[in-house]
Amino acid sequence: MNFTTNGLALSTEDLAAIKGKYGQLRLSLYDDNDWRNMVAMLAREKARFGVNYLVTPERLKTLETTILELCELGCRDILLLSYNGYDQDMHLSKESTNALSGTIKLMAAALKGRCQIKLGVCWGEQMQSVPRLFNKADCGAGREFLVITSDKKIQPCSFHQVALPVKTAADVMNIYNKRRSELESAALMPGCSRENHADHWARAKREEEEEEEEEEVAAREDGKEAIAIQRPGGQA
Ligand code: SF4
Repeated sequence: MNFTTNGLALSTEDLAAIKGKYGQLRLSLYDDNDWRNMVAMLAREKARFGVNYLVTPERLKTLETTILELCELGCRDILLLSYNGYDQDMHLSKESTNALSGTIKLMAAALKGRCQIKLGVCWGEQMQSVPRLFNKADCGAGREFLVITSDKKIQPCSFHQVALPVKTAADVMNIYNKRRSELESAALMPGCSRENHADHWARAKREEEEEEEEEEVAAREDGKEAIAIQRPGGQA
């Protein structure tokens, strides 16, 4: 089991107590969680850890510096995340996303053997030029991984509207086996790269309307032809 934390309540004693009992600790970096000290402490204590860093238009300006700083502090695993949410200013433009893929390729090559740079699944197909380990179109949320929240709910991912209460490990397995369509649905929050149901239904409705329009045009054309066929007799 892996876990994600802002690290604010994490002490060296906690790390010693859980040593060898977790897969990976993911530290989320925020502007106010003193992450430099945290990363240094995790490296010093030889914790198995990586960091999660949200890339916003503002942070893009200093991304190289941040990556180098993390590497210097002893971090060997940097996961870059895209923004999921309703604030338009936090989403990267297409140009910025292209620039980011160039930066990632460059930094990954420069830091090879020292630090891995990874991309969150929500980037979807936006980073096509960055080499991938697996060539998958879907993020795998709800199928390949689940999120268990601190208030005991199961979610396909932490941005998802689906949140199902559980009490036991058996409940988790029951939901995993029986509620697949919900777990594998797209998150409605902007930023989800899974096919969005709203888009899907809008497209289906558009196609239906186009079909109806074509049928109407064809029917009108047929009608004109019928009139034209009758006219030579002069008495339509
Ligand atoms: S469902 Fe959407 S928001 Fe959730 S992990 Fe997949 S791509 Fe990201």
